[in-house]
Amino acid sequence: MRRIWLGLSLAVLLLGGASALTSRRPQSQNDQPVPLDDSFWTGTITIEISQKGRGIPDSSYPRGSLESEESQVITFTLDQVPRLYDLDKWGNDKVPFVIKGSRRTLKVVPPDGNYKGCREEMRSTKSGSGTATVNLTPEADDEGKPVKIRLWISPNPDDENVTQKSSWVTTTEESTKTQNDETKAGAVGNREVVVPFDPDQRSLSGEKTKSHTIEKQNGENLPGVYNEIIRYDLTLSRPSDIEAVIIPFSGYEDWIPEGGKDEDTEGGFPIVVDVELRLKSKPDKEISEKAKFKFELIDTSKEPGVCLNVPKKDKAKRSYDLKFKQKNNSDLDVSNEGQIAQSKDYQKTETAVISSYDWGAYGKLRVTATLARGKKVVAHVEGKPQKERLVIPCDENDNRVADEWEKQAGVFDKKLPANWDGAEEPKGQKAPGDGISLFERYRGFEFEGIHERLDPNQKYLFVHDPDEVVRRVAQDANVKATSFEAVSKLRLRYVDDDHWTGGGSSGEKKRIVNFNTDWKPGHAVDQHALDVAVDTSFGAFPEGYLDAFNRANVNLKGSMPSDAGFTFPDTTGGFGSPRRTFQIVIFPFVIRKEYINFYVSCLSPQMPIIVAVMQGKISMTYDDAQKLGKEMDEWIEEYIRNHPEENKQALIRWIAVVLAHEMAHGVGVEHHNPPESGSAACVIGRGFIKKAAPTVGAVMEDPFLLKVAWPDELCPDRCWSRIIVSDLADK
Ligand SMILES: [Zn+2]
Ligand SMILES: [Zn+2]
Repeated sequence: MRRIWLGLSLAVLLLGGASALTSRRPQSQNDQPVPLDDSFWTGTITIEISQKGRGIPDSSYPRGSLESEESQVITFTLDQVPRLYDLDKWGNDKVPFVIKGSRRTLKVVPPDGNYKGCREEMRSTKSGSGTATVNLTPEADDEGKPVKIRLWISPNPDDENVTQKSSWVTTTEESTKTQNDETKAGAVGNREVVVPFDPDQRSLSGEKTKSHTIEKQNGENLPGVYNEIIRYDLTLSRPSDIEAVIIPFSGYEDWIPEGGKDEDTEGGFPIVVDVELRLKSKPDKEISEKAKFKFELIDTSKEPGVCLNVPKKDKAKRSYDLKFKQKNNSDLDVSNEGQIAQSKDYQKTETAVISSYDWGAYGKLRVTATLARGKKVVAHVEGKPQKERLVIPCDENDNRVADEWEKQAGVFDKKLPANWDGAEEPKGQKAPGDGISLFERYRGFEFEGIHERLDPNQKYLFVHDPDEVVRRVAQDANVKATSFEAVSKLRLRYVDDDHWTGGGSSGEKKRIVNFNTDWKPGHAVDQHALDVAVDTSFGAFPEGYLDAFNRANVNLKGSMPSDAGFTFPDTTGGFGSPRRTFQIVIFPFVIRKEYINFYVSCLSPQMPIIVAVMQGKISMTYDDAQKLGKEMDEWIEEYIRNHPEENKQALIRWIAVVLAHEMAHGVGVEHHNPPESGSAACVIGRGFIKKAAPTVGAVMEDPFLLKVAWPDELCPDRCWSRIIVSDLADK
């Protein structure tokens, strides 16, 4: 195999004259030879030509009698000339390289505006600009050793825009006639440049001036002057010296992905990334190389939905979470579902815009630059030569969670794994964590129409509260302290039917709150919500409860509850984390009946007839006692009717304590054992009633118990330490 070196040491000879050489047909770019190594000449060659002479412009006038001046500047940018290539296929008579250059000015004028010496006096100018083509032909000696290359420069007729303006003045004895003409003129002249070979040179720059007198043209004695200046600035470059650098926009490190209203809508601000070609050795030097850039998103997350609980599980799609959007990337062709964006033209630099479609979007950007000669260069991140993938978002600790969010949350230095479930606050409960992994806390949830990322330090409890009884208690200033949120110090978040997998048994994947998840390393457990309902009967099983037990083939031993509230165990049985509770039901009618009974026990001793019986002044038959009981109920009912505001306040207090009690069961808290033990202020025991109403007198003073302290804690030494929220910790 013969090889040729193209050393463009420009000891250039330029031959003037339009018809000196026959124009060669350039071959298509596809026919160009394949380079044999990775070194290429890049740079510019500029040729300035001017000539002055007689007889050049137009043969229709007496030869030798016209004088004209011609000047032009032709600039070529070389960026695809290989130093070495297979010569066998391309013989010396071939024209392997075709490079287009620009021809800046082109002007042909008579020296003082007139062609003289002919019968008609003529003024004529040509001016314009266009492009030219250079064909490079290497020439080797008999042994295949390269000797020189020949640059054959020809104007591109289709691209020429040269106008000739002419006017003739014909003077006879009788009259003077003037004729004006404007036509599109032909291009001026082909040129050939011969470049001797010099393999040792690495860069070439300089200037050559040549000037000579033309004595004859076409055998006729037509003297003229020819001048040329050739300026060249060429570098032998290697792609190993060319690098493509990924430069993320200045906010990259702070960028946190956001989702839109649905999976087809981009959320928040996009990420903008520039890529540019540079010379490794001279990064500040402007490079003449150009490339087509291919931006690829790889390992892009496809988490269902836009966050953990939007949209509903059966509506969530698994589409890419990071995409190039065609609308944001008008200079690029976007394909592969927004994962690829490619340059339309060769450029020194390119910009891509990446949009986020998920609150936990994740991916890596790889950029490949294909240089004009076909060589591929994989871009690296600016300042990090080894890093060929830009991680989106910035994620130095490699857990798919944006570092910026971890820094804001104060956990960045802990280097937590994506599936970490260890929220510590409040401390001292049975287990840390709440079943929501680090990645899921970051990706977030929608609660009551607002997206929220969860604090990694705090435990959250999800509550389905369709009757809004939990929220009503939490918002009522009079009973806030008794609310479950206050006594458990957990953060409660409310989900409606669109934001969980629906009510029912955990065995049937119901009550799950973090359901839009695919990426297993980012998921700790299917975490369940507490389902809290209000039933206005005097005791009933929740809807679907018995069916779920049947389907699970579990024998339900419990009988119909008749308590103020009831924590219905799921088929897994027993108190524990929320997975174990099918539903918590509050029965306000039972609550009302219970506290009416309480009033009866407290207030009835005040009725004169009771006092008389108790004092032995009268005796009662069974029928009398029945009648008396009825009278007492009526008396109490009337008393309540006469105190509607107090009754309302009392009822919400009773509901609050029943609710806190049942919800404590819902996170694993058992009854006090023995029942009378434990703190009097604990929502689990009933000690508070004795404490609140120690005497009949005290009850008479404050019959609705509105002035006394209501329970406001879970026993610090026992109930508190039984709280378990994480379904993972309870497995
Ligand atoms: Zn209980
Ligand atoms: Zn307790």
